[in-house]
Amino acid sequence: TALADHERDLIARREKLLGPAYRLFYANPLHFVRGEGAWLYDAAGRPYLDAYNNVACVGHSHPHVVAALSRQAAVLNTHTRYLHETILDYAEKLLATFPRELGQVMFTCTGSEANDLALRVAKMHTGGTGVIVTDWAYHGVTDAVSQLSPSLGSGVLRGGYVRTVPAPDSYRSVGQDVAEAFARDVAAAIDDMRAKGIKPAALLVDTILSSDGVFSDPPGFFAKAAEVIRAAGGIFIADEVQPGFGRTGGQMWGFERHGLVPDLVTVGKPMGNGHPMAAMIAKPEILKAFGRASRYFNTFGGNPVSCAVGMAVLEVIESEGLVDHTQKVGAYLREKIGRLSDKHAIIGDVRGAGLFIGVELVRDRKNLEPATTETARLINDMRERGVLISGTGPHANILKIRPPLVFSKENADLFVSTLDDALAVCCT
Ligand code: PMP
Repeated sequence: TALADHERDLIARREKLLGPAYRLFYANPLHFVRGEGAWLYDAAGRPYLDAYNNVACVGHSHPHVVAALSRQAAVLNTHTRYLHETILDYAEKLLATFPRELGQVMFTCTGSEANDLALRVAKMHTGGTGVIVTDWAYHGVTDAVSQLSPSLGSGVLRGGYVRTVPAPDSYRSVGQDVAEAFARDVAAAIDDMRAKGIKPAALLVDTILSSDGVFSDPPGFFAKAAEVIRAAGGIFIADEVQPGFGRTGGQMWGFERHGLVPDLVTVGKPMGNGHPMAAMIAKPEILKAFGRASRYFNTFGGNPVSCAVGMAVLEVIESEGLVDHTQKVGAYLREKIGRLSDKHAIIGDVRGAGLFIGVELVRDRKNLEPATTETARLINDMRERGVLISGTGPHANILKIRPPLVFSKENADLFVSTLDDALAVCCT
């Protein structure tokens, strides 16, 4: 479909006004004007099945969330320097979804800020500065956490205190114990830091490894590495910005699949269903040194409107049974995509947990050559057919399928039949 004059005009204005660092999705960029549930509507009224946007976890523009936002915005919006019940009610409700050891929460507006804060807290608690992340990690936009985000590209500065380790990839390391290998790599990174006089502060991982390529199995593969970093005096930080809030199906948090309790957890994206809110959750003993050294105030973080929104999101997750739903519909969708691999040789691997699914496309199932150009073509073709997905991994050859949690079985059926058609055209 050709772009309309109005969309061409919007693209030109964007470039002029927003400058060169922004990127649009798709060869034919999309212009949405409305969203509802798992659907987005473009300016011409065409519906698109959203299989990509994890932020709108309870569905686009969910009425319960919109009502909570409007109600509180009409009454009061201040900040955390005044007393307010909603902030504390929300903190209690959010903390109740975590293991008991994680007993305190600090609010921010973005996942980047939450990771930045976690980094400061880790440094204060451990007295170290060294941080280990995965090879193709993304942890955010601030100066500090962009340096912990190799997936941003080689042009981004990398501090001397950062070490990277390969993600536990059970597809490309068949027969290896990925938990063992990951722990060994973390230990080697610690040795390397120490050799340069750097004391380890933290191992920071996205517990579904979204940008590294979506790695979920076998559950438990982080546990040994967490022990290794702790034995070296550092802490384990779980970045739940992508996997959190029920996405991995059957549990609220991605780390729960790995049988460990992190020292710090960062959350964001789906927390406000689109309203900008994020947080760092901590074991109280880890926060002590930071609290002694510094006061903390985040102007917008944890304001009464945000907390009303966050509360409404948790209420919908509960009342609509989305954690169980995600497990069921996610397993159904993975199974159906898996069956497509009999027909389409380009599908090398289907993996993930709940409604966080990675489909790795390869040119050859023996040498696993990444099918990078085919993946880009497929994603654009799916868009033309009215279905939204994206790609991930260092070679951008892994389909990232991450719909709102309200995605239904019918949505899954439509998704798979569209993918089947698109694969037949793009990848044979
Ligand atoms: N961590 C992870 C794993 C993320 O995916 C992101 C956002 N893509 C962030 C942190 C940063 O969150 P934000 O964009 O809200 O700053």
